[in-house]
Amino acid sequence: MNADVETVRTADRKHVFHSWSAQELIDPLPVAGAEGSYFWDYEGNRYLDFTSALVYTNIGYQHPKVVAAIQEQAARMCTVAPGFAVDVRSEAARLIAERTPGDLDKVFFTNGGAEAVENAARMARLHTGRPKVLSAYRSYHGATTGAINMTGDARRFGNDSATAGVVHFWGPYLYRSPFHATTEAEECERALRHLEDTVVFEGPRSIAAILLEPVVGAAGVLVPPAGYLAGVREICDRHGIVFVLDEVMVGFGRTGKWFAADHWDVTPDLLTFAKGVNSGYVPLGGVAVSAAIADTFARRPYPGGLTYSGHPLACAAAVATINTMEEEGIVEQSARTGAELLGPGLRALAERHPSVGEVRGLGTFWALELVRNRETREPLVPYAASGADNAPMAAFAEACKKGGLWPLTAGNRLHVAPPCNIGAADVAQGLEILDEALSVADAHATA
Ligand code: PLP
Repeated sequence: MNADVETVRTADRKHVFHSWSAQELIDPLPVAGAEGSYFWDYEGNRYLDFTSALVYTNIGYQHPKVVAAIQEQAARMCTVAPGFAVDVRSEAARLIAERTPGDLDKVFFTNGGAEAVENAARMARLHTGRPKVLSAYRSYHGATTGAINMTGDARRFGNDSATAGVVHFWGPYLYRSPFHATTEAEECERALRHLEDTVVFEGPRSIAAILLEPVVGAAGVLVPPAGYLAGVREICDRHGIVFVLDEVMVGFGRTGKWFAADHWDVTPDLLTFAKGVNSGYVPLGGVAVSAAIADTFARRPYPGGLTYSGHPLACAAAVATINTMEEEGIVEQSARTGAELLGPGLRALAERHPSVGEVRGLGTFWALELVRNRETREPLVPYAASGADNAPMAAFAEACKKGGLWPLTAGNRLHVAPPCNIGAADVAQGLEILDEALSVADAHATA
């Protein structure tokens, strides 16, 4: 199908109900095509995609090997019910289980990240017989009823039913330390003490799971201090709590390892994934399950399932994506791009631009924290700002787009998340565009 731009725009405005939006206040850009790290509109404007869509096109758009695998699977068998054993589903599960840490050797497939989180929470509750889940304030876990209540960031506000058995706590974030810490070691120690206190005062025997993003994604690109995840693992073990790591955004190469947990050699009891598992070419997510939790459901039925669990087209895309990432060294490329190009390049921007308060990240996953004042760290826009309050960030994003780069902004931050296999020349071009656009943010900075 190749409709003209006005047909696309008109039908979109008339019939498509968009996520997270006031429907009459948006004007979605009609996109005509995409390849590699770029997409383009009907007027021929090309955009360097520093968002990887919603941080999921880890191998870029239209990778020919994945497209061919989907086409081949479509010709062979588009679909079959989830109760059967199917070659591509078995192979996708094997490839995932081989890469997940420790004894996470069984995979429950879902259609995306939120369903993965819902099922992880359900497994933890049934395994322990306990009701509560603890999760971080600075977190995003999805938009279904359970997952949005487990989410800590402002997207929860419009959905908060306060009935989901969720208790929030503060994770480590040295730049805006909730613990008044001044070093990584202090932040780590105090964040762990706060979590331990929270567990003790909530009643350890009421807590099924602690749910964490190993590197917090949408809520800040927050890389934990060394020792934090191992400390959480220890708290979970001591209190018989299931440790769930949500790798939906940071799994499959995003941080320069197959899984972010690999940076700290930590093994959770459950690991949720989606997005990068098949670069989002066909919706897929899942939960990797430890031997002990799998055993709970060895002779007792698991009370959950999905019509499209392990859909053959999605699994074929996962098999091709994982094999391609292996063949083309994309995980290693992501690590190198971070260490040699993005990290140094973004730090150089911070030196030139007074609006950049902090640069942090790993692999192809970075954030620039934009501020009005580097001393006070006053954010460029307030927390959960919208409308006029958000104008400086909106103007900065507009300047990026004018320069030919599609930016991912969240609160007062620019998140930098291009495909994990972005080329060096494209990184350089992206940094040049950001250099220019940051002068718009600089206009609001006083120190
Ligand atoms: N968990 C994390 C860490 C995420 O970043 C996201 C989405 O961004 C989700 C869960 C929800 O995934 P989905 O939108 O596929 O339901």
